[in-house]
Order: sequence, then structure tokens, then C-alpha cells
Amino acid sequence: MTTGREYPGTPLSDEDVSQGKVLIVEADPNARYAWDAGIAIGRFLAELKEGRIIGRRCHRCRRTMVPPRMFCEQCFRPTDEWVYLADSGRVNTYSISYLRWDASRVADPTLPAVIEIDGASKGMGIMHLLGEVKPEDVQVGMRVKAVWKPARQRQGSILDIRYFRPY
Ligand SMILES: [Zn+2]
Repeated sequence: MTTGREYPGTPLSDEDVSQGKVLIVEADPNARYAWDAGIAIGRFLAELKEGRIIGRRCHRCRRTMVPPRMFCEQCFRPTDEWVYLADSGRVNTYSISYLRWDASRVADPTLPAVIEIDGASKGMGIMHLLGEVKPEDVQVGMRVKAVWKPARQRQGSILDIRYFRPY
């Protein structure tokens, strides 16, 4: 059990919020920021814009990694080679989500899933969404294929793939 002695300060309760004892500020800071994706993810995103999925291979452990990385965490050495992969794979794991990112409830669930990409090593995959499938029909191991945005709408983002559908 903790007391205020170990953790100084005044804890907030739900009651404090509902009774308006807490000042809540909502502001639009109009903030802009830039993010450097790095060599591996930078190339990965650039290839997505072209409608391709690319991984990195390590010649020592013979693993093909996706998303790609420039360093093999198992061999503790740089990876060796770029490898184009298929835009298909298998569902490794999935969830049926009735919540949006802001925790508000939605009637039609989204289906976030980890997709093991064909050509990559076992257990290598990317997090994405499933589509064109009912939640009750999704299964681990199910074959899926990427549904891409039209080329002119792609931005070099993981969302250049709309979702993965059964195939
Ligand atoms: Zn390795």
C-alpha cells in the first residue's frame, strides 16, 4: 500500500472531474513537427508508395525481416540485403475492436491484425487492419492480401495499404 509519503502530490478522483474541481484546457497549439524515419523505415515507406513491401535479410541467421531494420538484433551485426516481398501473407494474430483511438465506442468493429508477410521469416509481420471479412470469419493462419490505395493517393505511409483481405 502506498501513502502520500512515497508519492507526494494530490491524486485526482472521478468525482473531482465530474464536480468541475479540475481545470480542463482544450487548446489547438497549431504545432508542426517533422520526423526522420531513418534508413530502413524510410526505404520501407518509399516502397509502399510504389506499391511494394520490402524487407531486409541477415546473411548470418538467414532471417528476412519486415519491417526492415539495418541491424540484426540476434547476430549483433548490420543486416546485408534488401529483399522485395509479396503483398500477401497470413494472419498471425488479430483483435475485434469496438473502440476508436479515443476510446469512444463504434458499432462496426475494426479488425487490427499482425500479418506475417510472405517471403519474410516466421513471426515477422506488420500490424494492419483486415477488411472485406466478417469478424466471426477471421481465423489465425488465414491467407490475406493487401488492398492498396490508388497510386496517385499513396503518400509513403503504412496507410497506403487500406487493409488486408482474405484471398
Ligand atoms: Zn542475423
